[in-house]
Amino acid sequence: MKISLLFPPSWHPSQPYLSIPCLSAFLEKSGISVHQQRDLNIELLDKVLTKNFGLDIHQRLVDLVKRLEQSVNGETGPGSKEHYARAVESLDRFPYLIDEIEPAKASLRGEEFFNLDRYRECLFLIDRWLEVASSLYFPTRMTVVDNQFSYSIYSSREILQAIHDETQNPYLDLYRQFFLPSFSQDTPDFVGVSITATSQIIPGLTLCKLIKEFHPDVHVTVGGSIFTRLVDNLRRCDRLFQLTDDFIVFEGETALLEMINQLEGKKDFSKVPNLIWRQDGKIIVNQPFYSENLTEHPAPNYDGFPLGQYLAPHTVLPVQFSRGCYYKDCAFCALTLDHQNFRQKDPMKVVDELETLSRKYDTPYFFFTDECLALSPTKRLCKELIRRGLDLQWTAELRFEKNLSRELLASMREAGCQKIVFGLETYNARLMDFMVKGITQENVDRICSDCVEIGIAVHCYVIVGFPTETEEEALETMNFIVKNTKLHSSYGFSCQPCLFDLEKEAPIMSDPGGYGIQRIMRPASEDLSLGFFYEVKSGMTPEQAEKVYQHVYEKISEVVCELPFNYSMADGLLYITRHNKQLEAQPSSA
Ligand code: SF4
Repeated sequence: MKISLLFPPSWHPSQPYLSIPCLSAFLEKSGISVHQQRDLNIELLDKVLTKNFGLDIHQRLVDLVKRLEQSVNGETGPGSKEHYARAVESLDRFPYLIDEIEPAKASLRGEEFFNLDRYRECLFLIDRWLEVASSLYFPTRMTVVDNQFSYSIYSSREILQAIHDETQNPYLDLYRQFFLPSFSQDTPDFVGVSITATSQIIPGLTLCKLIKEFHPDVHVTVGGSIFTRLVDNLRRCDRLFQLTDDFIVFEGETALLEMINQLEGKKDFSKVPNLIWRQDGKIIVNQPFYSENLTEHPAPNYDGFPLGQYLAPHTVLPVQFSRGCYYKDCAFCALTLDHQNFRQKDPMKVVDELETLSRKYDTPYFFFTDECLALSPTKRLCKELIRRGLDLQWTAELRFEKNLSRELLASMREAGCQKIVFGLETYNARLMDFMVKGITQENVDRICSDCVEIGIAVHCYVIVGFPTETEEEALETMNFIVKNTKLHSSYGFSCQPCLFDLEKEAPIMSDPGGYGIQRIMRPASEDLSLGFFYEVKSGMTPEQAEKVYQHVYEKISEVVCELPFNYSMADGLLYITRHNKQLEAQPSSA
């Protein structure tokens, strides 16, 4: 059986994503070869960022402007005055951009990546180029890492409209032009489509629709964390099964292996763990959900990925030490759902994998995607990395744990850790307890200070608007960042405030009243909603929180170097490593 695994747009263009390399490595280890794995996100972007693509859209823009000059329809929306103005503006920008787009792409892949002004300029040029291309599909807007449609991605009815909308969905044209010809020449029997971010929902399901339309016999399965959060919704959502044969939720390795076995054998899909499928018009969820034994999993397999096409001068590979979160209690966090329980690989095995991947793909740069590394295995990991003298550079997420000692941080730095991502969420002591963060101000202060002194860059996630939070409490968190010059002026520091979202499956949902929530609402049309609207008994209302969030965001942006550090952890890793190597090369003043 010919198997194809596909990763659709939109995602960060600097590095591959981990999902399908894990699946393909597992299948290969089980004796099943994957015919092709393709990162369509970077493949399509690479084609779009070319002069040839520009020449093609130029004629279409000229035709569009002529047509809209004849007649416009209303103030806004497709064919409107606003659309006309956007198309005219795109044509104006076109002559400059078409000469700049390929050099911009080349700069990001070369040494100029490290020239911060040029780096920013290139990302700006690419964004403008995508804006020009998007004007053909107004009001849809493609950006480097995302896309915005006028359709809601939380409504199956609107998703279906979006994937059929030739005037607003650019991915229909992009797939037809750059994907379907090669796919049709070498059609697989089975296609797995990985949808792990909301930005992939419409592009990913558009891909499924086209594959089914042109090759109805191909079995299409959608996997990824988005639909893992929508298990109950999928039970009632017959519509989406027009686009895909089934969904694999939670972890996909064993499920995919069994799916292939069944497709080649008795086709008894009740045997495929974690599968949501249809039989005689009825939607069936195969339970209990299966949790993988990580100790048996091989290193991810990036063979076939166009590693030279990513918009960075070096390959940064995502890797995984553990799945799930060993802590799990943070009241707002639905991340722990994806991997159910916490499991980790043996640190020695992880170092073996890093060594193999580094040699095979010729890179020292790694990105641990774990929710948070546990401390004692990290200690062993670092000890072994140092013992082998591997000189790898990496970044990972950890918690502000009391036991994250200066000694361990120093060992991490020696083992190549360049940056640690922390979920701070709040600096207010009451909220730390109320959110069940399990951290203290004292430990946050001490760990941030140790990181800066040891030379490990810090990222802090911040949440504004947790139920009962007051404006003063939100500003206390903001001031922790803004007034902490030692922290925010340290090289590579980044901080992303985000507005609180009441997410399905987060612990807070098991006792909303206890968290000060008095009413929970979901818009009736949004049958795929990942969160809820709510009202609170005390603290900021969601509307007030949004205003305070804007203020916090602006103030924090003033002290943070957004590009590259907030924009991309992978790009940031390359910058920080370069900076640290330069510091190390300087003669010491002693
Ligand atoms: S926020 Fe981080 S530490 Fe807290 S439960 Fe989620 S993954 Fe675990």
